[in-house]
This record gives sequence, structure tokens and C-alpha cells, in this order.
Amino acid sequence: MDKYWETTPLEKMTEKQWEGVCDGCAKCCLHKFIDDESVTEPATTDQINVGEKIHYTNIACNLLNTKTCLCTQYSERTTLVPECVKLTKSNLQDIFFMPPSCSYRRLYEGRGLPSWHPLLNNNKKSVMHKTGMSVRAKTVSDKDVDLEQFEDYIALWPIEDLD
Ligand code: SF4
Ligand code: SF4
Repeated sequence: MDKYWETTPLEKMTEKQWEGVCDGCAKCCLHKFIDDESVTEPATTDQINVGEKIHYTNIACNLLNTKTCLCTQYSERTTLVPECVKLTKSNLQDIFFMPPSCSYRRLYEGRGLPSWHPLLNNNKKSVMHKTGMSVRAKTVSDKDVDLEQFEDYIALWPIEDLD
């Protein structure tokens, strides 16, 4: 197998290579909040400033199939869910919004792909699920919770990484 991710920088990957890097963990489909100590009400945001911290929750977007960890409306996702972050070559500078285990972030930070990545496991997601690196069986839908109560759903597992 051509380990293109070891030789081709993200910025130079073809569309197919770029898509292949996505491990399909769906952690990017979890709601997250910025905690700024200078404000009393943390809020969803697409910007982060010095001193602010990102909190992940186990609340998943209602368009996520939580068993397959696939988006049910992939082609229309950014229209249907405006806050859906679509990582592209042109917004790589925003990669810190992705969890530490995100395979794009790992490559961007020079950490390589993890051993559980589908590309290293016959294109199967089973090792990723077994090692607990996807969101499978860990989430609630944002349709079933009050997002104002997000503090009750803050979770540490989304920021865990292996390897
Ligand atoms: S967190 Fe990164 S690697 Fe995982 S599904 Fe989202 S974009 Fe893909
Ligand atoms: S719209 Fe799809 S890709 Fe975007 S956050 Fe929701 S489930 Fe994930």
C-alpha cells in the first residue's frame, strides 16, 4: 500500500487522498463550547482566543448515525447545520478545533496516523470502534437535551488519543 500520508503534505493531497485521511471517528460531530473565564456563559463559537478553553461534550449532532458514525446528510451538511465544521485545505489553520486524535490534526502536527486508523486496518473501522476512539455508543442526540445545560454533558473521552 502506498502510504501517501507519510510523504504527501495535507495541502498537496488529492481529493481522494484527503478524504482517505478522515478516520470516521465522528468526534467532530460533537457539540463543544468555549470556556472564557471573563464571561459567565460559555457559548458555541467558531473562534478561540488566548486563555480560552474548548470543552467537548457527549452531545452529538442529530444528523449523525451514531452506530455507523456517518453523517446522514453528508452532501448537504453545511447547509443544514451551519455550525458544522468542514475542514478543508484552506482552513487548516483552524485545525485546533478538531480533537487531538483527529487524523488531520495528527498529520498537521507531525504525529502520523494512529495504529487504529482504517487506512492501516484494511479500510475497516472495527479497530477504531474497539479501541474506543470513535463516538459509537457514547453519545446523546442534541434533539434530546437542553443545550443550555451543556455542563452536565462535558466529557473527557473526546480529547483522549492513543499512540
Ligand atoms: S475528527 Fe477528524 S478524523 Fe475524525 S471524523 Fe472528524 S474530521 Fe474525520
Ligand atoms: S451535519 Fe453531519 S458532519 Fe456535520 S456535525 Fe452533523 S452529523 Fe456531523
